[in-house]
Amino acid sequence: MTNREMVARSLAAIWHPCTQMKAHERFPLVPIARGEGAWLYDFEDRRYLDGVSSWWVNLFGHAHPAINAALGEQAATLEHVMLAGFTHAPAVELAERLHALAPGALGHAFFASDGASATEIALKMAFHHWANRGRPAKKRFVSLAGGYHGETAGALGVTDVAIFRDAYAPLVRESIVVPFPARDGEDHRFGGMRGAIAAADALAAVLAERHGEIAALIVEPLVQGASGMRFCHPEYLRRARELCTRHEVLLIADEIMTGFGRTGTMFACEQARIAPDLLCLSKGITGGYLPLSCVLSSDAVYEAFYDDDVARAFLHSHSYTGNPLACRAACAVLDIFEREGVIAANERKAARFLSLAQPLAHHRHVRDFRHLGMIWAFEVETADRAFAARAFELALARGVLLRPIGRTVYFLPPYVIGEAEFSELVACAMEIADRLGGSA
Ligand SMILES: *Cc1c(COP(=O)(O)O)cnc(C)c1O
Repeated sequence: MTNREMVARSLAAIWHPCTQMKAHERFPLVPIARGEGAWLYDFEDRRYLDGVSSWWVNLFGHAHPAINAALGEQAATLEHVMLAGFTHAPAVELAERLHALAPGALGHAFFASDGASATEIALKMAFHHWANRGRPAKKRFVSLAGGYHGETAGALGVTDVAIFRDAYAPLVRESIVVPFPARDGEDHRFGGMRGAIAAADALAAVLAERHGEIAALIVEPLVQGASGMRFCHPEYLRRARELCTRHEVLLIADEIMTGFGRTGTMFACEQARIAPDLLCLSKGITGGYLPLSCVLSSDAVYEAFYDDDVARAFLHSHSYTGNPLACRAACAVLDIFEREGVIAANERKAARFLSLAQPLAHHRHVRDFRHLGMIWAFEVETADRAFAARAFELALARGVLLRPIGRTVYFLPPYVIGEAEFSELVACAMEIADRLGGSA
């Protein structure tokens, strides 16, 4: 099979996600035959450095021997059984371990298969929990400007990224949108404290007035991913937690992107020293191997459903919920975190990488270079309206996979990336800023 043949067959048979298919008449589709570590290989053995962890899911590289071995063993033992009325060791082990790792006391794991489903579950659970407690009027959600929580019809209601939402606006039940903390020029890696306080004040006003109709606030802790790796100060999260408690509004933390070490701690909420009522996890949970998501809930939420009446139960179901292979992959991922002291190792790694990135941070066309954990992001000053597409192509030509969002370029590499590989990401981004930056 050649690259050309693979691409032709794919374009004929597959409707690719997040894609205007006609754009592939001139825009490359990249056929991948195999992966190893931080690299992807096409059908002619040309390789690409995976600078975005394959849409933010990969943690320990492609085709990891330990995860492969765990999956092989699980496949030979139990590939799947339904989780309604049945249970199995990988789901139980994973639920127990997530409970132990997560902030606060989130002891009840509800499994699904992807991030958007986790959002749906958290929203339904929050609403139903209030209804079960005799507060059915609490049925609205508060979300942040620029927030992204997935693209199913329910999740779009709390997602504020125009390109994903506008076409479906008539189908979507809109949430109450509050401001995201503005960056205010204070030299803090998260963005300023003043922006955090002002945004928390705006949230306070909404909750004070409308808490009677609000079931939950949903946030991406510390970093909004899909709207361009926007950071905010942990003080915002601390205040949001306080306000939610005061006004009897549940706090849903969507750590689908930020979870599993991406922001430097196992979960981003830890940096604000808060615990949500509901925690959504997915993406890195299986190290990028299999679709899996999980909503962890507090005792208080869980207990609102515990009853003799079936209608008061949380009846949401997915056929593959708690799939043993996916749960086993997730357990293998947690094993790696423990065995290799990944959080501490990443901290050392990130500090070295930050110094390697200094020439980029000071490039004449680069603005707002920022870094948190294993995320690096910056804006390119450019007059090029097709910047994101052209930067993607330019990187591919160098054998690097980057996928800018608007004028934001980011690195979100697998944690196994080495110094030489990181330097290549930096060199690639320098070339992008050199060639596409500026007003020409
Ligand atoms: C990716 C993402 C989702 C949606 O996850 P999918 O698996 O793509 O449905 C939700 N929330 C956040 C913060 C995400 O980054």
